[in-house]
Amino acid sequence: MNSNEIEIHKELKKYFGFSQFKGLQEQVITSILGKTNTFVIMPTGGGKSLCYQLPALIQEGTAIVVSPLIALMKNQVDAIRSLSSENGIAHVLNSSLTKTEIAQVKKDITSGLTKLLYVAPESLTKEEYVAFLQSVPISFVAIDEAHCISEWGHDFRPEYRNLRHIIKQLGKVPIIGLTATATPKVQEDILKNLDMSDANTFKASFNRPNLYYEVRTKTKNIESDIIRFIKQHKGKSGIIYCLSRKKVESIAEVLQVNGISAVPYHAGLDAKTRAKHQDMFLMEDVDVVVATIAFGMGIDKPDVRFVIHHDIPKSLESYYQETGRAGRDGGEGHCLAYYSYKDVEKLEKFMSGKPVAEQEIGFALLQEVVAYAETSMSRRKFLLHYFGEEFDSETGEGADMDDNVRNPKNKIEAKEQVVK
Ligand code: ADP
Ligand code: MG
Repeated sequence: MNSNEIEIHKELKKYFGFSQFKGLQEQVITSILGKTNTFVIMPTGGGKSLCYQLPALIQEGTAIVVSPLIALMKNQVDAIRSLSSENGIAHVLNSSLTKTEIAQVKKDITSGLTKLLYVAPESLTKEEYVAFLQSVPISFVAIDEAHCISEWGHDFRPEYRNLRHIIKQLGKVPIIGLTATATPKVQEDILKNLDMSDANTFKASFNRPNLYYEVRTKTKNIESDIIRFIKQHKGKSGIIYCLSRKKVESIAEVLQVNGISAVPYHAGLDAKTRAKHQDMFLMEDVDVVVATIAFGMGIDKPDVRFVIHHDIPKSLESYYQETGRAGRDGGEGHCLAYYSYKDVEKLEKFMSGKPVAEQEIGFALLQEVVAYAETSMSRRKFLLHYFGEEFDSETGEGADMDDNVRNPKNKIEAKEQVVK
């Protein structure tokens, strides 16, 4: 180790209490400390936050962190504050602050105390804030969840498109983009939009060797099939994703009637009920949560043993994210998706009301899901290929963890077997 390496290891231990970097963290941090634009693609849970938090803490000036969710920003700020004796070390700048609070934030930044300033993209566009940030030293700008910049991503946010323009006004500051959901297309979009084709790019593997991937043809017996599956995993935690709120309610009810402890979760329930059901799942008062995609952002239950898709998802990125909530602890995670072509048509119909450009993207993404469901090749290879990653389906880690590899003859003939 050279002296710089020793230095950042020492800081890692000092601030975070970890004795080792995870994956590519050390290379990423070295790149950021070198004041170069940096692009980080790591799966959820890969440890992206530390990649910008550590260099922010040990450099001169304040790092601006752009993040789409106020709740996640608050969590991170609390976590950073707990590492230090100074509350002012990290702040959130958003529209809910009072005048006095804003004055305090500005004071802490000006005095050099604040190392991390979390900002929602819409706040960053405020002229008043931009003018202030131009007057103080900025170490770098980190853009978390950078896929929000791309229409091809699963969470497009138009405000993210203005970021480059604003950052330019701050002078010459390095940009760090981070995402967990970069298909090559999204990746290209991010680099183009942030005008940083020169960025050092670090991409971790997206392979989750402990997840088992399976697709079953959706028939009219789907409910009894799901019940049988859950009873085979008695007492284990699992998530069932459905497309509609109505389906969520009816499946949750069917499970309850069949003696399975399950709760529904969707955006139509009031906030209190949602929070209660989420807590029941996290505290293991219930085994199963039946949910729309509204469930899962920021949920970190390590021992989710299965994720079932009652309806196919709208993209493989969503599928990867949603199944990725299984087996966080490295233990078993069974990812079962039910597929029927009728569902594809239903999704296409949903999309037909949208603007043409959006529709085209939606159809293209959906076609990839269809190809995944209908493929007879290694599902892991298929998924990883989608993320621009080579996978050796003979020797790669987790190579035998899918239905196609275990039962090569068991091809999906969904089009013929469809029941409405
Ligand atoms: P991501 O943003 O990539 O989804 P996070 O930044 O939320 O991931 O980190 C995921 C978890 O990994 C957190 O609990 C974090 O404390 C932990 N972590 C990060 N870096 C390390 C490390 N070097 N050693 C041990 N745990 C780490
Ligand atoms: Mg993150």
